Amino acid sequence: MFRWINTSLNRKIGSVLVVSLSFLLLVIGYSIYQVKTIHDELKEVSQVDIPLTEIITQIETLQLQQHIAMERFRLLINHQHKEQEPISSLSYRNQEIVRLLNRATQLITTNLQNDTIHFKPEEYLHILDEINTFYKLNLTFEKQLEDNLEKGQLSDETWQPIEVMASHLDTKILAILEKINQLTFEATRYTEAHQRSFMMVETGLGICAFLLSSLLALYIIHIIRTRIHHIHQQVEQLHTSLELGEPIAKPNNQTSKPNDELGELELDLKKMISRLSEEMNTRKEVEQQLMTLATKDKLTNTYNRHKWSEQIHFLINLSEQGKSFSLISLDIDHFKRINDSYGHQVGDQVLQHLGTLLQQEVSKIDMVFRMGGEEFLILLTGQGQKQAKERAEHLRKQIEHFQKVGLPRFTASLGVTSYHSGETEDSLMTRADNALYRSKENGRNCVTTLE
Ligand code: GH3
Ligand code: MG
Ligand code: MG
Repeated sequence: MFRWINTSLNRKIGSVLVVSLSFLLLVIGYSIYQVKTIHDELKEVSQVDIPLTEIITQIETLQLQQHIAMERFRLLINHQHKEQEPISSLSYRNQEIVRLLNRATQLITTNLQNDTIHFKPEEYLHILDEINTFYKLNLTFEKQLEDNLEKGQLSDETWQPIEVMASHLDTKILAILEKINQLTFEATRYTEAHQRSFMMVETGLGICAFLLSSLLALYIIHIIRTRIHHIHQQVEQLHTSLELGEPIAKPNNQTSKPNDELGELELDLKKMISRLSEEMNTRKEVEQQLMTLATKDKLTNTYNRHKWSEQIHFLINLSEQGKSFSLISLDIDHFKRINDSYGHQVGDQVLQHLGTLLQQEVSKIDMVFRMGGEEFLILLTGQGQKQAKERAEHLRKQIEHFQKVGLPRFTASLGVTSYHSGETEDSLMTRADNALYRSKENGRNCVTTLE
């Protein structure tokens, strides 16, 4: 069963058809066999039993006539009436009965030889024996009748043995008729019962075939529907992720071998989703890189001028809602000398280390910008002038004490100011520049604050 589930759809449907057709062939085979049996039984009924029943009826009629005749003869003797019917009529009817029994014998013998008789052939042979016994008895009866016919006159003495013999023959013939009757009745009853059971078995087998085929068909439909539902869910999930712009999860079991056509479709879909997921991730990375390139300074990894103008506008707008911010302006002292003395490359390294140091020393929400050369701006979101001054002093000291093997020591001058509500970016920048300029004027490596 488990292996069958894992086969292809074609195989599944094929196997259902094979099972259904085999069942159908079985039913047809059984039906042919049963129909043949019933046909043989009906043939026996029509070829043997119906003619035998007719013979029985005729014999019974003759017997009745014979009884009446015997009764008349008996009365004739008692009342000494004139004979109205010749005694030969008794013999005549007897011969008629014999003729009919001959026909019955012929019928049974022929059909036994032709193998037409199926119901209890030994019983029919027994009937033939009984008929033969009857013939013998009848010969004796005929002889007695002939003797009395020769005498011409009936008397009690002569009639008595005839009557006894006739009653004997009667009993014999009744037994034969009863036997034949019983056989024909049984044959008919058996055939009817056989037909009934045949109909019932046929109906049962038909229902079984129908149920089996229906169950298997339903099972296949269920499997297909479940699988399609699964595929549909994956497509829906992909659709939702694409609509919401969420990352597309990579599906599992991509390497497992598909069982059937739906499995292949599902695998193709998984591969496609996986490919799409990779494409989307690559796109996200490219977007991220582009974003970095657009907003960050390549050398120092601090934010660039472009990001500055975006951020300063954002903070100026935010300050209208009561959020204050401060600005630190920073410039390396005598940087030209470093370049001149150690080379431009060392100058670059100094810039890189300063960028890293500044970003380490400010809080997460503060932002460091390289505005060009060795000039930096630091935006302190939500901080007033006092806090900004402290932060600037802290930075100055960190720079002063910064040392790295292969790099010269250096200092920086810093200017601090806070944003005044309603002022422009230029006015803020000018004040920051002025503060920085003052620090340079005051001998560098110091912090100047301008209100
Ligand atoms: P001070 O600010 O103390 O008055 O003196 P300074 O020597 O720093 O003066 P200035 O601001 O005029 O000099 C800046 C120098 O920085 C000039 C330029 O060659 C150098 N510079 C600008 N950009 C870079 C850069 O990306 N790398 C390197 N190595 N040097 C740069
Ligand atoms: Mg400068
Ligand atoms: Mg300088």
